Amino acid sequence: MKILEDRIIKDGVVRAGNVLKVDCFLNHQMDISLFQEMAKEWKARFADKKINKILTIEASGIAIAAIVATAFDNCPVVFAKKTESLNVDGAVYSSKVTSFTKKRTYDVFVSQKYLSPDDHILIVDDFLAVGSALNGLIDIVNQSGATVEGLGIAIEKGFQGGGDSFREKGYQLESLAIVEKLDAENNVIEFRK
Ligand code: 5GP
Repeated sequence: MKILEDRIIKDGVVRAGNVLKVDCFLNHQMDISLFQEMAKEWKARFADKKINKILTIEASGIAIAAIVATAFDNCPVVFAKKTESLNVDGAVYSSKVTSFTKKRTYDVFVSQKYLSPDDHILIVDDFLAVGSALNGLIDIVNQSGATVEGLGIAIEKGFQGGGDSFREKGYQLESLAIVEKLDAENNVIEFRK
């Protein structure tokens, strides 16, 4: 998606350890007009899918998913939580996720009330690196008996392999920008052709 790639080139900062910082428009300060364009793009790419719910993971996925829902008939958005809180009552689906940026493993969970076998889910997140976050979300959907209709990622770091592993498994993965190379020393960002 050209406008996202242009924005990454304009505002993205490459950090050591293959981390791309885009917090001035994607995951700290948020450009809602850009999110609306991203939502339209995913709607077009998943036009033949009957999606009735969007699933993401806190925190960065939530705002993106909320705007994406407006392009999918304002369907409900559910987000996986990272810390068990007192106000989630009853049974939960849970999975383990290893954070690429924080280098630690934690449990994520969704109340069983909010996913059911008749749900058709679009999973949305800001980044895809090795795929741990997406694997955790897919695991939760599978536990509920719902169907994963597609995976929508804003920025995939293609060279870290997660994206291609989901494509090989047959998922429709639509990444709006696929970064193929990051060079922290010269702040160079290259996209997949
Ligand atoms: P994965 O689980 O695919 O290895 O990593 C995806 C998760 O790690 C995303 O939810 C995102 O929050 C975070 N992440 C991975 N790589 C980056 C990156 O280069 N920049 C930022 N800002 N977040 C990243």
